[in-house]
Order: sequence, then C-alpha cells, then structure tokens
Amino acid sequence: MPNITALADKVRAGARVDAGDALDLYRHAPTPLLGQLADLVRARKHPERIVTYIIDRNVNYTNVCVAKCNFCAFYRPVGSPEGYVLGFDELFRKIDETIAVGGVQLLLQGGHNPDLPLTWYEDLFRAIKERYPSFKLHALSPPEVIHLSRLSQLPVPAVIARLIAAGLDSIPGGGAEILVDRVRRLLHCYGKATADEWLDVMRHAHRAGLRTTATMMYGTVETEAERLEHLFRLRALQDETGGFTAFITWSYQPDHTELAGSEATGLDYLRTLAIARIVLDNFDNLQASWVTQGGKVGQLSLAYGANDMGSVMIEENVVRAAGASYCMDEAEIVRNIEDAGFTAKRRNMHYDILGDPIFREREVPRMLELATARAEGDTSVPQELRFYPARSRSGKDART
Ligand code: SF4
Repeated sequence: MPNITALADKVRAGARVDAGDALDLYRHAPTPLLGQLADLVRARKHPERIVTYIIDRNVNYTNVCVAKCNFCAFYRPVGSPEGYVLGFDELFRKIDETIAVGGVQLLLQGGHNPDLPLTWYEDLFRAIKERYPSFKLHALSPPEVIHLSRLSQLPVPAVIARLIAAGLDSIPGGGAEILVDRVRRLLHCYGKATADEWLDVMRHAHRAGLRTTATMMYGTVETEAERLEHLFRLRALQDETGGFTAFITWSYQPDHTELAGSEATGLDYLRTLAIARIVLDNFDNLQASWVTQGGKVGQLSLAYGANDMGSVMIEENVVRAAGASYCMDEAEIVRNIEDAGFTAKRRNMHYDILGDPIFREREVPRMLELATARAEGDTSVPQELRFYPARSRSGKDART
C-alpha cells in the first residue's frame, strides 16, 4: 500500500508529483483528501478567491464529418440529409445575439467537412473581424487544423499562419480525448490526429504566439494510468511552451453514440479534476464542466481544484446530441459561484478580468434554454457555398 500521508505532504510542500505518485494518489487517496490537496494548489495560485467565467457562444459551423469517431453523437456523414453548414449571415446573427448578452467571443468548432476549403474559413474570419473588430475567435481544435492541412496540402504552421492572418485569436483544446494512441485507435480518432499530432498543433500554435486551452474527455476505454499519461504529456508541453491558458476535463456522454456504454459518476469527475489540479502545476486555470456534470457537481468542482466556471454557453450542440442538456445563464452561474463563497468575475479567453457580472449592470434577458446551431427542420444551404469548391461527390453535385 503506498504511503498516502507522505504523498500528501509532498503536495502540501509544493513539490512536483511524478507519474507513480499521481497514480497512487488517484487510486488510493480518500476523496476528501484529494479535494483538500487540489483546493490547496488552487488557493496557492488564486488566493484572492475569485472564480471567473466567460460569456461566449459555442457554435458548431457544420456537423458534416469524415472522421466518424465512435464516441460522437453529433456528426453526420457526407451527403446526409441531416448535414448542415451555417451561412455567414447566420453566424453574424449569432454574434449579434451574443454581444447583446455581453458576450465577447465565439467558440467555433465543427466537423471535418471535405466541402469547406481553407478559403471558406479565411473569408469567414475576415468577414467577422470586419464587422466586429474587437470580437474574438476562439476557433478550430487541433484535429480541424490537421484536417485543413491535409485538405489544402499545406503544413500545419502554414495553415495556422493563414488563419491568424484572417483573424484567428486562439485555439480551443478540443479533440484531445485521451492523448494515448492505444485509446485513440479504439475510439476511431487515431486517424484524425494521433497524440503526437494533437500536441504538435498546439506546439506550433504556441510558437506562433497563440494561447490555447487543453482538454481531456475520459470515461471511455482508457485506464487510470492512461488518463494520467494524458495529463503528464500536457504538463511536459506546458513546460516547453507555456502557451496553455487552461485545462478542462469532462466525462464521455454515451447517449446515441456508436460506442455506447455508461457515463462516469460525479465522484469519478471530482477525483479526476482534483488529480489534474495536482499534476498540472504549471496550468493557472482549471474549468468546471457544469455542461456535462450539471450545476450542482459544477459548483462542487470549486472545492476540487477548479477556479473557473467556463462559459455561459448560450448555445450547445455536441454534448446535447449525446444526452446532456444542462443550461445555466450568467445569473445562475454567479449564484453558484457566490453560494460557494467566491467572488464572481467576467473574463476573456486570456483570463484577463473584464468586470463584475453584467446582469447587475444592465438588464439582460434570462436564458433558460440553450440555443441550437439550426432551428429544427431548417435545411437551407447558404448562398455563398457555391463560391467554394467541394471535394465530395455529393458536395460537387449540390454545387453544380
Ligand atoms: S468528435 Fe469531431 S471529429 Fe470526431 S466525429 Fe465528432 S465532429 Fe467529427
């Protein structure tokens, strides 16, 4: 039996844990102790007891995807009548609605659609920046960047440079799942990005001056040791570049997926969050995933290492497709933060504090339900798509 008391003292003393220490703590430390240690590390980094959140909108510009990850309930194959691409005008409308409730950015991610070339993204980003110069684009997870690199036959750094020139501000850490290739093969996501490829996109992004986030989706086929291997790979890259602003972990949502199975429990979530806070000693910010865990476990996360409540959201499509549809607007997020004994502050993607809750400054409509990418039954095809070459047979047919 490992000496948990000695390992706890090591964390309390501020020493770095190694992979063996982390596995012993994760497997054997009592949950309250794991929480106390994570809270201690959180308090060292954030002694002022501020918990932040961001008002932004999570928009999925297309659900058409060739990657076909078996844990994903969101995608539709090429040619599916349920496939969609959002038009530039639809995206402008979503930005207008986001700005109306105090939002500052779009989190823009989507499927690997072979019929959207790099120029579509560049034109979209430029058009958004022209209309909304100070609005931020937190867009395109590493597998999407790799997809664009393959589609355009340009190296990843060149794709990143072109996207930055068009208006990209930062990259979200999606598509990481578990950064272990054995797991990625089993989840059918090895082809979209190996562990090394995912990390390499982030390395290039950081070198190009972008800040990014990092994520982990656990609870599918991985072992505890593989979850920790994921965390140690992130810690090593953060040592190298310092480019990650935050880490977010969430549990796999099984409904309507090919992989199926059951969802990890709330306790598993809190233990995983806590060990992440202890291992990722070079990450300043850890988000609570209330979107997958619900508001109550999301609030508890603040005692297990999280210092941020993530996004107010406004819109969500991916997690909802797999069965979770929690909604908290700004007032509800702030209520949860304050009830846990913290001060709530709005932030941007760089974690700069923007101010106090906006609903206390002016009238903001209550939001009791998250929006979707498209209204049900809307099968419209954006006008501008005809200007972009399609790669798939069905895409070519639709554009002739
Ligand atoms: S997780 Fe992303 S890449 Fe994988 S199938 Fe879903 S949309 Fe495509």
